[in-house]
Formats: sequence, C-alpha cells, structure tokens
Amino acid sequence: MTATNGAGAAGAVSASEQSRAAARGTCPCGVTLGIKNQHGLCRACRCRALSADPDVVARRSRAALATYQADATVRARHKAATRAAIAKRLEDPAAMERLRENGRKHGAPNFPLANTPEARGRAAAATRARHLGWCPPEYYGLNASLKAKGYGLAERKAIILADVPGTPEHARRAIANHQDAQRIRAEREKAQAY
Ligand SMILES: [Zn+2]
Repeated sequence: MTATNGAGAAGAVSASEQSRAAARGTCPCGVTLGIKNQHGLCRACRCRALSADPDVVARRSRAALATYQADATVRARHKAATRAAIAKRLEDPAAMERLRENGRKHGAPNFPLANTPEARGRAAAATRARHLGWCPPEYYGLNASLKAKGYGLAERKAIILADVPGTPEHARRAIANHQDAQRIRAEREKAQAY
C-alpha cells in the first residue's frame, strides 16, 4: 500500500513509516506490532506468555491427552516417531557419549541419595498416590486385599467408592438402601394389616 504513494523522497517515506509504527505500538521486546494487534505483544512474546500460564498449559495437556487417547492413528504415529527418534539417537555416538557423561556426573553421585529408606518410601508413596488417585488412603488395605482375591479395577472401584460419601457410587447405594428399607416396611405393614 505504501509503495503506491511512495513517490516522495526516501526521507519522507521513512518518516511516515516511523509515525505509522508509533501508532501501531511496540512489543516490550522492541518488535513493531501489527495494526490489528490487541494484546500488545508480538507473536513470539505472546506464545511465551501463554506457555508460561499454568492454566493454558493444563488445558493444552488435557486436549493433547484426549486426542491421544481417542485417536488410534495419533497413537500409532507417536509410537513410530518415538521409535525412530530412539533408534536415531542410539546411532549417534556423540549423543550416547552425552548420556554416559550425564550418568557419570549426576547418576552415580545421586544414587546413594535416592537409595535411602526415606527416599524409597517417598517414591513409593508418590507412585501409590498417582496409581490410586481414585482411592482414599484409608481404603488402600481393602483395595490390596480385593486385588489379591482377583477383583478387577472396575469392581474394586464400585465396592470401595460405594463406601465413600460424596461419590456417585455411594449415592447409588444410599438410594438402593432407602428403596430396600421402604420395600421391607411396606411388606411388613401389608402383613400386619391382615
Ligand atoms: Zn515481543
């Protein structure tokens, strides 16, 4: 657009460019912003700001996980890409040497720190909390004994959560109990009526 009416001296064009730039605004990083820019940040700074927002990151992670779980082609593509990347890395002597160097530098000195009973206990508790996020800690024992008896996850959840106030399973059991009680009372009243 400026090129068509840019018949004046080079200095005049550059001045009008400058005033136009001032009207557009500038990103804190120094980049001149587009005329329609609404958040006052250039594309790179905007991306950086969004990626630093825990809510945005959590939403992106949820969306990515949902796609991954829902779409078998996405899973297959991810698996193939991961395999290829690992294979490529195994063939790269420099990358493997970096891995070995990391192990010597951090792995060996850290091993005794991570291998105390306390550290192992903390790791076990974290793993349990992650795998048994659905199960209140006071039911861990019951869950383990049900599992040993061969109950599957869905059955264990149904049994344990029926006992935990506030869960849908508990509400269903409370309703069923209530209906049972009503039925029993109705039957007794009917029997006593004769
Ligand atoms: Zn910027």
